[in-house]
Amino acid sequence: MSKLMIIGCGGVASVAIHKCCQNSEVFTDLMIASRTKSKCDALKAKLEGKTNTKITTAQVDADNVEELTALIKEYAPDAVLNLALPYQDLTIMDACLNAGVDYLDTANYEPEDTDDPKWRAIYEKRCEEEGFTAYFDYSWQWAYKEKFEKAGLTAILGTGFDPGVTSVFSAYALKHYFDEIHTIDILDCNGGDHGYPFATNFNPEINLREVSANGSYWENGHWVETKPMEIKREYDFPQVGKKDMYLLHHEEIESLAKNIPGVKRIRFFMTFGQSYLTHMKCLENVGMLSTSPVSFNGQEIVPIQFLKALLPDPATLGPRTVGKTNIGCIFTGVKDGKEKTIYIYNVCDHQECYKEVESQAISYTTGVPAMIGAMMVLTGKWNKKGVFNVEEFDPDPYMEALNKWGLPWVVCENPETVD
Ligand code: NDP
Repeated sequence: MSKLMIIGCGGVASVAIHKCCQNSEVFTDLMIASRTKSKCDALKAKLEGKTNTKITTAQVDADNVEELTALIKEYAPDAVLNLALPYQDLTIMDACLNAGVDYLDTANYEPEDTDDPKWRAIYEKRCEEEGFTAYFDYSWQWAYKEKFEKAGLTAILGTGFDPGVTSVFSAYALKHYFDEIHTIDILDCNGGDHGYPFATNFNPEINLREVSANGSYWENGHWVETKPMEIKREYDFPQVGKKDMYLLHHEEIESLAKNIPGVKRIRFFMTFGQSYLTHMKCLENVGMLSTSPVSFNGQEIVPIQFLKALLPDPATLGPRTVGKTNIGCIFTGVKDGKEKTIYIYNVCDHQECYKEVESQAISYTTGVPAMIGAMMVLTGKWNKKGVFNVEEFDPDPYMEALNKWGLPWVVCENPETVD
């Protein structure tokens, strides 16, 4: 018997909740706690009668540590799975420490207000010292390591697809295929088409910020930063076909550089069509991607939040999206003195996901590993105390669970590589 509290009830949480309810032998009790309780209640109503998992709902402001601590203490879950936004990572970790409960998430900390001078001073120092300018990095959450160790608690960072599954693929490749991994290319391809001129597949604010930022990759012990979309390649993705992809900064590069010994280069590429990029550039040029408030008709509005209100809700894209995603990693390295290359990937079909859980593949490929991460903790398979990224655990039970719970993977030897 185990109890999980999920915070947030958006696109990713909805899939994770469906999957927990399919897996009610592990997840006997589930609380869905979010800012808008009506969304939690609607999902509960949809799932009840189809699952043995006992679902409870609650309203909570996860920015408020006291309020959240009280709710966690009252429900007394075995773990809290944070599927709200990266802005809430630290407050939820604090509440977990206060209440003595394990913690998991899918995205590393990022502040909501990047103009906050206190945060900005630390950020600017980090940019100079580390050499990358992304607003998010792991230092904030890694700083909790000792606190979690002392409390005898586990915090697992980044159990989505990327980071998450791509990180577990890396640990698996190292365990079973290589003595040493030299390069990792993470390739994230969405071959789906939703039929709108422009929409984002997950939270527009998080998505557009990520895509419009500088790119960067890790090489020979340091970061190399690029202009946004500066490095472009074409790749022929199994089951999807040829797509243009662009080098982005991505959070798992930071943790893999630390946790995969001897790795020389790590890059991350994501596919984008020309129309998406043209729309985004235009929105950026007119200031619609800005996170700084502007005054409009006597009211303060944040342009990117206003844009979010205009764009299709990612949660509604499911029924319209056709096509497949292909996300995976190409590894090069040596085994028994010989050079070797393998590609581990998953292909996910948007319409199949919709049929199963009424969601498109982007939320599906994140929500399933979120459930699996929680399952690793609740079943005691992953039980180190402290703060860890997923590649620091035994990948085998997680890889087995991916096959079982809807994200089967393929290992391809001698694949096409990226120059
Ligand atoms: P959504 O915007 O769809 O959902 C976020 C949910 O969090 C909403 O239900 C929202 O409430 C709730 N929420 C926001 N602020 C608070 C708060 N202060 N207190 C309580 N609840 C709050 O986002 P997604 O589902 O698309 O993304 C969820 C997370 O997954 C994000 O952190 C995202 O970065 C991450 N992600 C990770 C990926 C990976 O592969 N690792 C890929 C995709 C996403 P309300 O309903 O009121 O808006």
